[in-house]
Amino acid sequence: MKRKSSLRTQILVSLLLFILLVLGLIYVFQTGFLDDFYKKEKISSLISTAEKIEQEILKEEDLEDVIDGYVFSNEVNVRLISNNEDIRELDQRSAGPLRGLDLMTIFQMEKTVEENGGSYLFDNYQYRMGPDSFLDIYIYAKDITYEEDDVLLLVSTMVTPLAATISTIRSQFLMIAVIVILTTVVLALLLSKLFIKPIKDISAGARNLPKGKYENVEARSLELDELNDTLVEANEEILKADKAKKELIGNVSHDLRTPLTMIVGYGEMIRDLPSENNEENINVIIDEARRLSTLVDDLLDVSKSDSGALELHPEDVSINDLLQGVYRQYEKHCEEKNVSFELKLIDDKTFKMDRGRITQVLYNFLNNALNYNDKEEKTIILGEEEHEGKRRIYVYDNGAGIPSDKKDLIWDRYYKVDKEHKRSHIGSGIGLSLAKSLLELHGFDYGVDSKEGEYSKFWFDMGE
Ligand code: ADP
Repeated sequence: MKRKSSLRTQILVSLLLFILLVLGLIYVFQTGFLDDFYKKEKISSLISTAEKIEQEILKEEDLEDVIDGYVFSNEVNVRLISNNEDIRELDQRSAGPLRGLDLMTIFQMEKTVEENGGSYLFDNYQYRMGPDSFLDIYIYAKDITYEEDDVLLLVSTMVTPLAATISTIRSQFLMIAVIVILTTVVLALLLSKLFIKPIKDISAGARNLPKGKYENVEARSLELDELNDTLVEANEEILKADKAKKELIGNVSHDLRTPLTMIVGYGEMIRDLPSENNEENINVIIDEARRLSTLVDDLLDVSKSDSGALELHPEDVSINDLLQGVYRQYEKHCEEKNVSFELKLIDDKTFKMDRGRITQVLYNFLNNALNYNDKEEKTIILGEEEHEGKRRIYVYDNGAGIPSDKKDLIWDRYYKVDKEHKRSHIGSGIGLSLAKSLLELHGFDYGVDSKEGEYSKFWFDMGE
């Protein structure tokens, strides 16, 4: 496994490497190449000056001004050698190192220029300043023509030896390098402290996340702020999930206990009082056992749907056939309970669906329609209709209805409008959430229209 180093070390090492690279580059350029740069710079400015003078001479304007401009310049020195009278006169004005050139040297130079195509740079000429002191100068020589006469233009510049400068730079550089490196180390430590503190706080906080006890950390940077916000959100989700888990255990154990109490109670009564051994009491036991089994089935389906394991087995189903089947199952039940139950069909159509699962949804709607109705005359309609080009299947009841602010909530798991667990209103609160999962798996739109105290109409739409 690759060994990981701390963020502080990484910041420190990266900054130091960067600074060393920059210092190294500066050192090499300042000391190693300085001399070359300087000489190149000198030569190119010398040549460009010569060209400028040539241009001005060719323009034949104010030649005195041209030369005077350079006679007093410290940078360059100019001479013009020619038989032309004007030029000779002009050359009288020149002073400086070039003035001291003897005729022999000038003649040699003229020859070299000729051999080299009209111009030449003499870069190792030494100008004698005193008995023992010499000065390096560069001389650029060029043949030009003035009033049909040949003119040898000589332009020179002094070259200062850089050895002393370079050695000064070297010693200063050492000091600068030490200061920069020390500053970098301090800066890196400060920076890392600035970044690492919030990261440490966040990671310490994140350890409390599983307990839902993550606390907001002041992060000082956008990215860490985002991380902090994500953890705060995760913390809220964990708290919510924890609450839901507690509610689930509470609800499920309550829902399991009620039928179990009934079964045990009725069972004991029948055992102890033989006169109570009648069909009615035994039916109570059977009903409660069935309720238990439905509840367990629903819970299994919910857990399957949560884990994505709920699979559909779609087939072509005739709507009228489906609704008639469900109607037949419920007809007797409603008759016994004195509920008016109606089936409203229109022209038949076929849709792809998991027949068993959609039947389960309809049973769920019908059970609720029966459960949540305290009216004297109870009506339930199972029907179908065209709705905005789709086929809508619905279960209508004239029961309690649903308060408009609860219409969205009833599809949530374990949600009950009436939190009091009344015996007549049996239900675990998972029926509609399971119906919702199944309808969403099918891709069917669903919903409820209702007026509190008057009616509820649960529906889902099929088709494109
Ligand atoms: P439950 O097991 O409690 O019936 P459901 O998920 O089936 O769970 O329903 C959730 C809640 O929606 C119910 O507790 C009830 O308050 C409300 N509800 C569902 N169907 C109807 C209906 N037809 N009329 C009035 N309220 C209903």
